[in-house]
Amino acid sequence: MSLNDHWMQRDLNVLWHPCTQMKDHERLPLVPIKRGEGVWLEDFDGKRYLDAVSSWWVNVFGHANPRINQRIKDQVDQLEHVMLAGFSHAPVIELSERLVKLSPPGLDRVFYADNGSSCIEVALKMSFHYWLNVGQPAKKRFVTLSNSYHGETVAAMSVGDVALFTDTYKPLLLDTLKVPSPDCYHRPEGMSWEAHSRAMFAHMEQCLAEHHHEVAAVIVEPLIQGAGGMRMYHPVYLRLLREACDRYGVHLIHDEIAVGFGRTGTMFACEQAGIRPDFLCLSKALTGGYLPLAACLTTDQMYQAFYDDYSTLRAFLHSHSYTGNPLACAAALATLDIFEQDHVIERNKALAARMASATAHLADHPHVAEVRQTGMAVAIEMVQDKASKTAYPWQERRGLKVYQHALQRGALLRPLGSVVYFLPPYVITPEQIDFLAEVASEGIDIATRDSVSVAVGNALYPGFRDPG
Ligand SMILES: *Cc1c(COP(=O)(O)O)cnc(C)c1O
Repeated sequence: MSLNDHWMQRDLNVLWHPCTQMKDHERLPLVPIKRGEGVWLEDFDGKRYLDAVSSWWVNVFGHANPRINQRIKDQVDQLEHVMLAGFSHAPVIELSERLVKLSPPGLDRVFYADNGSSCIEVALKMSFHYWLNVGQPAKKRFVTLSNSYHGETVAAMSVGDVALFTDTYKPLLLDTLKVPSPDCYHRPEGMSWEAHSRAMFAHMEQCLAEHHHEVAAVIVEPLIQGAGGMRMYHPVYLRLLREACDRYGVHLIHDEIAVGFGRTGTMFACEQAGIRPDFLCLSKALTGGYLPLAACLTTDQMYQAFYDDYSTLRAFLHSHSYTGNPLACAAALATLDIFEQDHVIERNKALAARMASATAHLADHPHVAEVRQTGMAVAIEMVQDKASKTAYPWQERRGLKVYQHALQRGALLRPLGSVVYFLPPYVITPEQIDFLAEVASEGIDIATRDSVSVAVGNALYPGFRDPG
């Protein structure tokens, strides 16, 4: 028995894996990872995989990065954790100062949670509670975009719209208002991203005009709808949305959990629209992909609406045990140091250009409807029929073929349904980008070759947060 098999067997005896139909593993081998270094993951038999999806979009400076490692090692000898109510510590104070400085002016307060979904819960609760505190209890609904994803907890699911994850739980969900997404995949032929996103804003305008009196906040994934298939839109939509939220007295929540920290080409996506949201939710790459941590940045106006004598019961009594964990904050500080010292945002421009040139030829593929890109995210949408953009039936699980081929070739490429994408760590080299493009091209050829189901039963599917 190989070492991989040994660990796989032990794993399958006791674990229940996230976002997985466990029966898939009767046929799809689990990949136990022994170590990581830079963009590479290495299994127990010594095979290496290039991490093209940054391990679920969290890793930005590679695995086992020496600079982040050192900072965590130093911190663990000093203080591993202390509760953040009544107590504080240097890493969380420093991190908060730096996040306030980095983010758009006006976001002056930082509230911590310990994962992305919890961070969304914080923003939703805080927005609702704000309106309560200022005497507007009717404002309790949230407006969301179609095909959006904001996490897995019940309220976060409520503001999401990826059917595969939310349909089952519908009876548990909040009553939200859903507006068609500005997603440019669906723009009429010949129309620019900007014109399409601008036109789609009419739906949002109408919704807010009708419902603003009962709406607490609008929540969006700025520029890229990640789990919904890496669908993208133009920043003009965010500018129009900011203006409308101001006009109608509604909060704007930016979920930059996936897109923050350089993914869209700027440090934060909101910079491209030149706006400041009322809540900026950050997680994933915040710690360089090391430890769970999330930050919800908000305005002084928000903070002041809760600031009062204890007896008024206006305080935000929300907490997580590991709020602002010092080790996670240390990892985040090291991550921010690397961004600054290595001029990462500037240097990424060359990598983004290489991602574009390496994948450009795929636009001509007979089963590729679109190759799209925003900054350090590239997505390739496989379709059954190119002219009509007819999707493959989800049961055929075409993305799985790409996934399996990539594993053989030494890459971790995990499509979302029929959308193959690269969201690599920023320490990737141009040559490694070319390698990924080659592997993806081969995989797409294989996955789209057969006219019928690739016959892996109805169980196998690798799609993380797959739109179905
Ligand atoms: C991943 C993600 C979340 C949820 O974060 P978790 O840490 O996985 O709970 C929320 N919103 C977006 C846009 C995400 O991509």
